[in-house]
Amino acid sequence: MSDIIQLLPDHVANQIAAGEVVQRPASVVKELLENAIDAGATEIKLILKEAGKTLVQVIDNGKGMSVTDARLSFERHATSKIRSAEDLFQLNTKGFRGEALASIAAIAHVELKTKQEADELGTQIVIEGSTVKSQDVVVTPKGTSVAVKNLFFNIPARRNFLKSNTVELRHVTDEFHRVALAHPSIGFSMFHNGSELFSLNSSNYRQRVVNIFGTKTNEKLVPVEETTEVLKVSGFVGKPEFSKKTKTEQFFFVNDRFVKSPYLNHAINAAFEGLLKDGYHPSYFLNLTVDPKTIDINIHPTKTEIKFDDEHTLYAILRSSVKHSLGQFNIAPVLDFES
Ligand code: ADP
Ligand code: MG
Repeated sequence: MSDIIQLLPDHVANQIAAGEVVQRPASVVKELLENAIDAGATEIKLILKEAGKTLVQVIDNGKGMSVTDARLSFERHATSKIRSAEDLFQLNTKGFRGEALASIAAIAHVELKTKQEADELGTQIVIEGSTVKSQDVVVTPKGTSVAVKNLFFNIPARRNFLKSNTVELRHVTDEFHRVALAHPSIGFSMFHNGSELFSLNSSNYRQRVVNIFGTKTNEKLVPVEETTEVLKVSGFVGKPEFSKKTKTEQFFFVNDRFVKSPYLNHAINAAFEGLLKDGYHPSYFLNLTVDPKTIDINIHPTKTEIKFDDEHTLYAILRSSVKHSLGQFNIAPVLDFES
């Protein structure tokens, strides 16, 4: 009998991993913005062409990379963010899996320019479908620019699966909003086909919400603040009269990371019980700060799901703190139910 098992070549393994990490231009946007934040950037610029299908570029003024690190950053499982499995439970960074750049480079044309503060010159790498085309010395400012062109150029099935530019741009904008809301002190801008869509200066949380969702938002925000032994809740909920028919203004962050948690979202909705008309959804922009030891983020490659040690306690505290804030602002139940 002959042996039939083979190790997959790296570029194939990368392409398979990319299937999980990169679904659409918005996934690239998320990974690049998160890398810029992890690099300590205070200004981050996002540039798109054709909703990101032909170009997603993120330019940051963070700490940059050395010549060797720039090359290594495209290897799978190459990360500066954790060293051991224990580090997974004391994470202070968005990234830790070391697979975003490797995955993206497997399915697009990537151009990276980076320079550290102390260096005179920077380095530029061009990589296409996991093949390094060149690495040169360049003049470039401190920080990093990553340009991702022609997404899925080598996977026609994935490229054809992409939606219209309008739909893809909406996904990109959602991702941009999530990251910008989680980091109000960082300045962000976003350009599409040459026009500036957002320019967000470093600000406090309320200003950031208002800058994104419009000045009218200011009057509808009710602050939520609660600190207990196990967690801190902060942020805003929208007054019930401003509730919407869509769930487009529901943002829930855990340790500065946008998270999807149907269970905890339910806790927030439950606090609005009796205050909303049928079919209406509350607005909220809430941040939960918990000890990283009490959560597990490594359950999905996109890291939008989290496992909490004690969800029931979090549920109870979240519900009561939102209820308390709504009560303090003398928000009375809506009596004119339409049925
Ligand atoms: P991860 O973020 O999980 O570590 P990535 O593939 O996203 O994995 O990035 C690999 C490594 O490349 C990072 O750990 C970091 O050291 C470096 N890197 C990526 N983007 C940047 C950036 N914008 N500025 C500085 N370093 C970066
Ligand atoms: Mg990363």
